Amino acid sequence: MTTLSDHVDPGVEKLEDPVVLLGSGDQFTDRDRTRMAFVEKELDRVVGRGPGPYYDSVVIAGAGFTASVMAARLARSEHFHGKVVLAGPRTTESRRVKDGLTLRGRGVDYICHALGVPQNAYVAALYGDIIDGRGVGTGNVAAMGTRNPDGSYRLSRVAPWQGGARGYSRPLFFGARNSRMQGALYELMERSGVIEVPEPITCLEEGYALAPGRRPLLVNAGHNQRLFNPSVPRVDWATVAVQAPLRPTASGLQNCPSNSALLAPVRRGNRIDVGLFNPYGDPLSPRSTYYGIIVSDVHPDRAGFDKQRELAEISEELIGIAGAMGLEVDDHDETWFQGLVPGSPWTPVVSRPGTLELQMLAHPGKSATFSDGMTSGATTAVAAAEAILRGADPDAAARRITRVIARDRSIWHFLRTRVAVPADALIRVLPEAALGYPHTLHAKSQWATRA
Ligand SMILES: Cc1cc2nc3c(=O)[nH]c(=O)nc-3n(C[C@H](O)[C@H](O)[C@H](O)COP(=O)(O)OP(=O)(O)OC[C@H]3O[C@@H](n4cnc5c(N)ncnc54)[C@H](O)[C@@H]3O)c2cc1C
Repeated sequence: MTTLSDHVDPGVEKLEDPVVLLGSGDQFTDRDRTRMAFVEKELDRVVGRGPGPYYDSVVIAGAGFTASVMAARLARSEHFHGKVVLAGPRTTESRRVKDGLTLRGRGVDYICHALGVPQNAYVAALYGDIIDGRGVGTGNVAAMGTRNPDGSYRLSRVAPWQGGARGYSRPLFFGARNSRMQGALYELMERSGVIEVPEPITCLEEGYALAPGRRPLLVNAGHNQRLFNPSVPRVDWATVAVQAPLRPTASGLQNCPSNSALLAPVRRGNRIDVGLFNPYGDPLSPRSTYYGIIVSDVHPDRAGFDKQRELAEISEELIGIAGAMGLEVDDHDETWFQGLVPGSPWTPVVSRPGTLELQMLAHPGKSATFSDGMTSGATTAVAAAEAILRGADPDAAARRITRVIARDRSIWHFLRTRVAVPADALIRVLPEAALGYPHTLHAKSQWATRA
């Protein structure tokens, strides 16, 4: 999904040693301390205690989002500083909106814990010189989208499902470009503690050969699920997705408060496509104020699957619902993303001794449907890193921290694919009730920042 490179927006000054410099300017606030305390309490619960590090080094295959969070946490520890290898090319920065763009506040809490920086430092790095509050969401509203006979789209009654009519007083999520989120991680991590290897690891032996110690843990954070374990089952499910940054048309934003994301599902027969339209800010696309995504469940190996037709239908949904909101695609040729996202086992296989299946543990089932991939990636990476530091089991810690998010993701999946017709009717009539569980119930613990 991600593509890789070192490019950093030339307009953004890069600090030589940001963690040190931040200490003098960007101070931790009481809110940051509350967030860190919450993260540490949750880590105590999911990791438990241990005798201290068992491994003497860590080799991470893949240099994407989740891998970078884990490397950042280990690199700022005394034991693993200089003993962490991050292998594989890094993500290229471009305006194209590949991968997730809605980062839940809870995810930011864990990222800042991994980096050891205040929230302001990470948020400032996300938005650069356009920082003005755009992209920060404090509420979620919902309505069903329906195609009109003329090809345009209309929305059913729009109702809040998180944050009420006004939104929360703290961020629920940040809408930003994924490659910038990874760029910000890279800029703020303690890179002197990380050994970067731009070539990808293609087998277990190559991983061992790179280890800067005699007792390494090999972490699979890439998309080849069988890299360390050929018996990982292949799954036949996937999602197709289209995504684009959006700018206001002459009418201005309609049908959605400007601090909120609109969940706008569209039913196609017996399944519901997920439509999400979120506040967004990107220094490379300064006219964009929202972004839109439509995701649909597919089985690529089944007879009759036609990827191009699926993509064409969901593209029409994205453009149509954006139109109903008074938005249009910002520079289609440079920014539009469409593709097929492979699925994962809903229950990840247990990591083999000496290895950790981080990617599979962090992303069970289907991606891109629940705005949770980066949050589950960040929380899993930090929990696993903490387990390594304490000498506890990183596989078990990763499973514990993803339990709630994985359960919520599978309930949302059930609603969309097994009871699509009644779910459609209920969202039209009583959206608050239809989305009560799992969404609203876990609003604070799974979405918002802690303070
Ligand atoms: C269109 C889309 C929308 C999404 N929306 C959201 C959202 O709103 N919110 C959210 O939290 N999550 C969302 N997600 C999921 C989210 O992007 C990922 O879960 C998140 O980026 C975590 O990535 P990762 O580190 O596990 O993998 P990545 O960042 O993808 O990196 C893993 C590593 O694998 C390598 N790699 C990439 N592609 C391949 C490949 N095909 N084969 C082999 N190696 C490869 C990369 O180079 C990298 O080193 C979305 C995903 C997609 C595709």
